[in-house]
Amino acid sequence: MTLAGIGYDSHRLGAGRRLVIGGVEIAHEQGLEGHSDADVLTHAVIDALLGAAGLGDIGEHFPDTDERWRDADSIALLEEVVSMIAAHGLRPLNIDCTVIMEAPKLGPHRLAIRERLAAALGLEIARVNVKASTGERIGFVGRGEGVAALAIASLGDAA
Ligand code: MG
Repeated sequence: MTLAGIGYDSHRLGAGRRLVIGGVEIAHEQGLEGHSDADVLTHAVIDALLGAAGLGDIGEHFPDTDERWRDADSIALLEEVVSMIAAHGLRPLNIDCTVIMEAPKLGPHRLAIRERLAAALGLEIARVNVKASTGERIGFVGRGEGVAALAIASLGDAA
């Protein structure tokens, strides 16, 4: 059996915050605002996994009203979701995702992001694809107000 799920997230860019994308901190004059580390890509991946497993969404499991998740490391949340999925007899097969961001360029960090996500997912790097796009200077992404991410996950039976 193969199951598929989608995920989407966006976070506002602001001063005095870290820019963490897929568990990798990227040097930039602005970072992402949010209750946790605001790792927009990892949040989209989490929602894709939860969606495929029929387990709701990130807000249900890690509410942003809960002090436990303040400044949370989203990769740790992802690892928790992978365990949750395993408890349901499932495992990730592959992830594909797109980060939509005007600046900085994602390219130089893409391999590190794939490695970080692959490790958390228990997948080979070839099964974790990360793509980058921009907002073409239109919309909230294009104006540099925020970053969005999309992800799709497929799950199979745990061996
Ligand atoms: Mg989020």
